[in-house]
Amino acid sequence: MNKPTTMDWHAAAKSLKIRAHGIIGGAATLAKSGKTFASHSPIDGAHLADVPLMAQEDVDAAVISARTAFDDGRWSHQPPSARKAVLQRLGDLIRENRDELALLETLDMGKPISDSLSVDVRAVANCFSYYGEALDKVYDEVAPTGKDYLAMVTKEPLGVVAAVVPWNFPMLMATWKVAPALAMGNSVILKPAEQSSLTAIRLAELALEAGVPEGVFNVVTGLGPDVGRALGLHMDIDGLFFTGSTQVGKFFMEYAAQSNLKKIGLELGGKSPNIILKSYRDTAHAARTSANSAWFNQGEMCTCPSRLIVEESVHDEVVETLKEVAKDYAPNDPLDPATSMGALVDARHAERVLGFVDAARADGADVAIGGKKAREETGGSYVEPTIFDNVRNDMRVAQEEIFGPMVSVIPVKDQDEAIKVANDSPYGLASAVWTDDLSTAHKMSAQLRAGMVYVNCYDADDMTTPFGGYKQSGIGRDKSLHALDKYVELKATWIKL
Ligand code: NAP
Ligand code: MG
Repeated sequence: MNKPTTMDWHAAAKSLKIRAHGIIGGAATLAKSGKTFASHSPIDGAHLADVPLMAQEDVDAAVISARTAFDDGRWSHQPPSARKAVLQRLGDLIRENRDELALLETLDMGKPISDSLSVDVRAVANCFSYYGEALDKVYDEVAPTGKDYLAMVTKEPLGVVAAVVPWNFPMLMATWKVAPALAMGNSVILKPAEQSSLTAIRLAELALEAGVPEGVFNVVTGLGPDVGRALGLHMDIDGLFFTGSTQVGKFFMEYAAQSNLKKIGLELGGKSPNIILKSYRDTAHAARTSANSAWFNQGEMCTCPSRLIVEESVHDEVVETLKEVAKDYAPNDPLDPATSMGALVDARHAERVLGFVDAARADGADVAIGGKKAREETGGSYVEPTIFDNVRNDMRVAQEEIFGPMVSVIPVKDQDEAIKVANDSPYGLASAVWTDDLSTAHKMSAQLRAGMVYVNCYDADDMTTPFGGYKQSGIGRDKSLHALDKYVELKATWIKL
């Protein structure tokens, strides 16, 4: 799966110059208080940087900068063809700087360097290119109201837009919001997760270099309950787009209600069901693909197929195959290009994830393999790929998002029970079904209450398809042309003729 690279990443890490500052009004900016917080690498616990610990006053400065830029039209009034050229240049600059960006991402949050390069950085560049290419194909409308009036339906940027994002794909989750928001002419304020500020900072610097005017793309660093909350409650922010946990997503609805009813978009957690039926021709292939998706990115994936729902007759083959694949995911050095499983984002998260092993045992599930820390001698936070077997859907490991390399195998009698179990979750992000029966594939994909359904595959991906969830997995969609709608207001203008 991983593309080999020949770089010496350890040497590159030693000579890497890390920039740790916010970006407000186009300038490198520290917290007004002068305070910082330390960023450590989960690879080995090494100190990476001291990042500005921003607060309300810094958020206020970022909002003023974004509002000033929006109102004077330095970006919002540029012709689409001009914004298009800038976003495409940014896509190219990201490709030119891919090694540095990939290295920062891996050092900061622990994912394998091969994935940072071939998945994260590539997808970030493609996302800017895609929205750059798309933005001058967006037409307004003339409504069919009759001859006495001309009624125009036009799209206008929201204004000042904030994005608050998580650490699992730091630059990519930011880009899924920043790129369409900029494409439609908004000014943006990005708050990265405290564990992963570094690529957000570089991204904003590259945006300046590409020609995004000062003040149009700001980065405020700091903690969620301070900076994130201040953005959520701000009276002069028009839209807030969040990716993260369902619990914090609910806070943002409250912040909006308590302040100015800013428009909210939420991309939240998941507990995705992945159904392997006996009617699929190759059980081992289904199990192998499922394992790869469950353990990719250390399982720190909102779409992680963490509930593997299997018909009883194929259960044993599925579990045996998972155990085989687990050998490829033995945690290893994230800077080694051959590594498939890196470090979890930090020691606290690793402890939380490992807590689910006790929960599984207490509820009566079997721990088939894994369930322990790994590579402790490194000082990093590594967890073995883990399989819980004979899980019932009411157990904690089947109901709660673990966000680590742990998959629960839930045996079921038949496909009716499979659908019932699949939909018995507060979440509805991704889902999958493996079958060669055409009518079963259609019926079940219609029955699955989820924003994404994969049939005979998992994690198929392209910029052209919307990404997001039903139920408590969120509100709204990232990616595709549909995402552009989140960053505009619709205006109806009537002209009496
Ligand atoms: P998180 O704890 O919800 O944090 C996300 C962001 O919200 C961070 O920037 C965080 O800042 C901030 N935040 C935390 N508490 C806050 C508060 N009280 N008020 C305002 N902001 C606050 O999520 P995470 O642990 O970083 O990421 C994992 C979650 O993201 C999982 O649930 C995963 O499923 C979800 N996710 C969803 C998608 C999707 O597209 N549906 C994609 C990726 C991830 P701090 O860093 O300072 O805590
Ligand atoms: Mg970090």
